[in-house]
Amino acid sequence: MEKNSPARRNFIKQSALAIGGLTAAPIIAAAHTPGSINPHDDNKKLIIICLGAHPGDPEFGCGGTMAKYSEAGHNVIFLYLTRGEAGDPNKTYAEMAALRTKEAEAACKILTATPQFAGQIDGNTVLDKSKNEEMAKLILAQKPDIVFTQWPVDSHPDHQVTGLLALTAWVKSGRKFHLYFYEVNTGVETMAFTPTDYVDITSTHEKKKAAMFAHKTQRPVETYNDYFKPLEEFRGLEAGARVAEAFIHFKTQADKISIIGL
Ligand SMILES: [Zn+2]
Repeated sequence: MEKNSPARRNFIKQSALAIGGLTAAPIIAAAHTPGSINPHDDNKKLIIICLGAHPGDPEFGCGGTMAKYSEAGHNVIFLYLTRGEAGDPNKTYAEMAALRTKEAEAACKILTATPQFAGQIDGNTVLDKSKNEEMAKLILAQKPDIVFTQWPVDSHPDHQVTGLLALTAWVKSGRKFHLYFYEVNTGVETMAFTPTDYVDITSTHEKKKAAMFAHKTQRPVETYNDYFKPLEEFRGLEAGARVAEAFIHFKTQADKISIIGL
């Protein structure tokens, strides 16, 4: 396809730049959405929660997008389900939690996000009635406009739990906020991920890299080079950008009825 054909430009406008609050182009289904976001209201400060199982998951999965939100003046909260206690077999859980909490705080500072910790334990996360209620309470108390979370079809059980806790909170809220899923280590961890939306992260890419590399205990450079660099470039090719992050926007039944002209 020609690089700048009108068809290609339209495709990019509609599909690549469609995340709530980050777009100049209209969101096709905006009229049906139950949340409070009006894409034309530039003054509305959004509250965005990005939930991840371990310190590093939100940064690697969508740090570029979160940096764009905070640069635009929105409130970004990184909610870590655990403190990554099980990250090193040669250290105690307490030692590892202290180290990784510091790394998460440093990463959040770079991205202008507020770190929060939900108190579950790495490698042993629980999905049951009381944890669902706890998470729903924690999320809803902050009245988010958008929640990002991990796609639950994943080889890591903590990632599965994270995605489903957020999904249940969304259902319990009466689908009051927008829910987006992000991917990590696709092919090894995230599976069966077919994006609906893309964000061009070229402008915040260096910031994202600094935030990822703040997780010094996690071999961040190798992880980036082996998994996330090819992923960002691949998603960029799909979206017509140098580097991009991809998401699944989980829609209500009403939002799905959005074919143009019908
Ligand atoms: Zn993880």
